[in-house]
Amino acid sequence: MCGIFGIYNHPEASNHAYLGLYALQHRGQESAGIASSDGKQLHTYRHMGLVSEVFTRDILKGLAGRSAIGHVRYSTAGSSELKNSQPFAVDYAKGMMAIAHNGNLTNAFLIKSELESKGSIFQSNMDTEVIVHLIARSREKSFIVRTVHALKQVEGAYSLLILTEKEMVAARDPFGFRPLVLGDLKNAPVIASETCAFDLIGAKFVREIEPGEILLINEEGIKSFKPFPQREPHQCIFEFIYFARPDSFIFNHNVYEIRKSFGARLAQESPADADMVIPIPDSGFPATLGYSVQLKLPLELGMIRNHYIGRTFIEPEQRIRHFGVKIKLNPVKELLRRKKIVIVDDSIVRATTSRKIVRMFRNAGAREVNVRISSPPIIDPCYFGIDTPRKSELIASSHNVEEIQRFINANSLNYLSLEGLKKCVRGEEENFCYACFTGEYPYPFQMKFE
Ligand code: AMP
Repeated sequence: MCGIFGIYNHPEASNHAYLGLYALQHRGQESAGIASSDGKQLHTYRHMGLVSEVFTRDILKGLAGRSAIGHVRYSTAGSSELKNSQPFAVDYAKGMMAIAHNGNLTNAFLIKSELESKGSIFQSNMDTEVIVHLIARSREKSFIVRTVHALKQVEGAYSLLILTEKEMVAARDPFGFRPLVLGDLKNAPVIASETCAFDLIGAKFVREIEPGEILLINEEGIKSFKPFPQREPHQCIFEFIYFARPDSFIFNHNVYEIRKSFGARLAQESPADADMVIPIPDSGFPATLGYSVQLKLPLELGMIRNHYIGRTFIEPEQRIRHFGVKIKLNPVKELLRRKKIVIVDDSIVRATTSRKIVRMFRNAGAREVNVRISSPPIIDPCYFGIDTPRKSELIASSHNVEEIQRFINANSLNYLSLEGLKKCVRGEEENFCYACFTGEYPYPFQMKFE
């Protein structure tokens, strides 16, 4: 997963890119970067770490010019190191370009080995670099046509921004896997993964960039192209379940409202006889509220999160992740003694978190711990940009609900059904990708490690 932000023709371009990335920090905490254009050349700075750690006033001053794109990353393709951070910038025969990409390309390794066999040298092991090579090699005259030419050769998920000396291109793949929104800051076009970035800089939300749409932004204004054959959209439902910020508007919905409706639906499907319902912070909050309102069950903040650490799941090292749950969460013992509780979380991946959380609640004195999950069981990995582990590590791929309940030692466990999830996006259910719950991927592809 990653977050991207771009702004065109504004006197404080890189300062706004910094703030935009700050608002998108939840989409990736490994590295951050900004590339700016002063009209003649690009300036790039990227580093491992959080946005607030990576940039200083001086660094931002060095990112001169009226246009900028930025990126926050956690690795889904390519390892976690500086050479794989973005924006990825190159100086090639026809000028300079920098690219910021959210998503995963499923045929990148095939294109990469073909290009390498023809002598191309890659600087990183990111799938994104393939797009750069394809653009650079294209014989088409204008930058936008070269970009279209390149994008027609790649398959998979991309919401991306490309900056050249004079232009900016924003593109969303034909399936529309990842979100991408267009805004306006006093006549300067702004683009972001989520609208929460606009709110922070005071930009107006204009509209979502459509699946398969490419925007060319230059001195003449904004031009929209739809160069791909039309596909059925497959927007990632997991953005609603876990990833996007609740205050964002993406995929035609406010994330908070939709998450709350998942919780209400879960309550209808799987009510619990309990003294209170407790959210697992932070991603479980809106669904828990929906659950509580639907059942008129008191909601208590029985688990407190320490906010001063990164998201543990995102740390690539298993060792750190295990330690993470304990330093991140702590139950409120006084609330729990001899109580029957129901806890709501957004998803179970490996079940390491839920197992520890149930144990923590029991140790804190809870008499009964019932678990409700506001998404269906995850049985298959995502190849389109969500950092899910391999199938063998996904507990629901090899265990049924009863077995998972036993593994996490809960008194009861229920997931939201796939039908229930679809009912929450009624009328639009065909527009989403549910592959992590069904194993039905939108198109056939071959993955590198298979
Ligand atoms: P696990 O212990 O592996 O079952 O992790 C489940 C927890 O991780 C849940 O509390 C989710 O909120 C969170 N989670 C689910 N998917 C992701 C993801 N792709 N990245 C980071 N955290 C996630």
